[in-house]
Amino acid sequence: MPQGFVRAFVLGSLPINEQDKFIYLLSQEKGLLKAIAPGSLKVKNRFGSLFELFTKGEFFYYWKENKEIITISKGEIINSYFSTISNPENIFYFYLISEILLKSLPSNQKDKRVFKLMESILNNRIEGVEMNFLLLYFLVWILRIEGMMFNPLICYNCFLKNTNKAWVKNNFRGILCIKCKTNEKFTLDTEELKYIKWTEKNSPKNFSTWKNKIDINKMIKLFVKKIEFHIECTLKSSRYITELN
Ligand SMILES: [Zn+2]
Repeated sequence: MPQGFVRAFVLGSLPINEQDKFIYLLSQEKGLLKAIAPGSLKVKNRFGSLFELFTKGEFFYYWKENKEIITISKGEIINSYFSTISNPENIFYFYLISEILLKSLPSNQKDKRVFKLMESILNNRIEGVEMNFLLLYFLVWILRIEGMMFNPLICYNCFLKNTNKAWVKNNFRGILCIKCKTNEKFTLDTEELKYIKWTEKNSPKNFSTWKNKIDINKMIKLFVKKIEFHIECTLKSSRYITELN
């Protein structure tokens, strides 16, 4: 049987029967992977706490004729983020992040930036960067990686550059200047447009420069709506996020 090895984050798990779990992995090399972990629901099992949400681990696996689903034979925790993830201040944000990754990443998405983005979000949370800022940073980047982020500096309609205020098109595909706007709901001001550009080259740890300059809650709402529009469904975990209600 062919065998393999990946470094990955656990994005979620579901019981299949009384003994086995179905696991979603976000791997560094191979993108999203669907896996079975035989025996992982037994009281004494060889995996321990390997499959907690966003645990970073090394996973050994094999596959049979069905290459779509791999079987995990063993694994080791590289970094358990359990105490961070399970903190009530963070848990719902990470549910939302995992739901977005599972619903929006195409299965052939092998862009290594997704894995790096998750490492950055988790490590910066441990370093003390605020959770709502990290969620916003994540949303901007996941849209960018998936090729869905609009150019924040050019009017979609007339190509006017560096507008002071922008109206986001109702189909979320671009921004409009004051001359081109019609009945758009979401607006972004200069600083907010600059922030989107800023994320291209900066780590979320330098967030403090944006504090009080941008409306984080409004931007989170905008980008969650944008993702929902593109994936054509509602993100269930969004109802637990204060910024979104
Ligand atoms: Zn325009």
